[in-house]
Amino acid sequence: MKSDFYSVRMRASSLGRHLSGGERMVPRAEIGAVVSALTERGLQAAEGAADEVHCQVERIDAATLHYATLPDVSTCQVADVYAGRQLAVSLLTQAGVQEPVARQAVELLADGAGPGGTVMRGAVLMDVATGQRLEPNPERGIRVSRMDVTAACRLKLDRLLQGHALGHRRVSEALVLAGKILAAPGAVAELCWSDDPHYITGYVAAPSFGYRRISILKSCGDPRGGRVLFVDLSVTTVTTLIHYLEKTPVLFSDTGKILPASQGEAAHA
Ligand code: AMP
Repeated sequence: MKSDFYSVRMRASSLGRHLSGGERMVPRAEIGAVVSALTERGLQAAEGAADEVHCQVERIDAATLHYATLPDVSTCQVADVYAGRQLAVSLLTQAGVQEPVARQAVELLADGAGPGGTVMRGAVLMDVATGQRLEPNPERGIRVSRMDVTAACRLKLDRLLQGHALGHRRVSEALVLAGKILAAPGAVAELCWSDDPHYITGYVAAPSFGYRRISILKSCGDPRGGRVLFVDLSVTTVTTLIHYLEKTPVLFSDTGKILPASQGEAAHA
């Protein structure tokens, strides 16, 4: 008999301000250890001392659980932010985003996509045909949730990433998030860089080339970052897509490949 899975989600805050979050999807027997690890992570958030850490545990309906394979991973080394953003536009175009829409998305993240140039909690949904924003709440955005890897896949993934000096939790978590996005109905591509002022690597992900890291997508010290998901509304509706991203549980049971690093792909930029 297949065991039930549970979604475990943590969010840490201070004076009502969101500090950090994390989530897993695990069998019943692992809930205790995962709640403990996520709580500890919330308490030790680099963003500041948390005065509240909430963990929520929710049983997943097995009939709604989807299995998928993680995208391939590759890294492009670029010389500076300008080259990184040019490359991001080039990769987005390759994935099927019109160049003006790709440029608009890069500028949006560079300026801060939330109201008044703030950082959003979730992702921007962008109509790939028009560049129109589709997320109902531009402060919150869309929170991609309910995704993880199976235990066997976790072992393989950790080994694979560590073998390529990509063992940081940040990489595996972003890869899983991008994997869920790429498996979404109507997903054309995703653009992301972190709001962590000291983490300057970002990525473009697309079904055709997987998860492509770009070594520099912002300047060190810049607190702005975010995610843009480009959607083709000729194959899905906004409601269907948001329901999938936020509610449908997806477990990755296998990894993709790690492809060799390349230098900037300047020819495409
Ligand atoms: P991070 O890579 O965790 O630094 O996140 C970068 C940006 O992605 C954040 O500023 C949010 O705008 C967005 N983001 C973070 N987590 C999620 C999520 N679970 N779903 C959608 N967007 C997210």
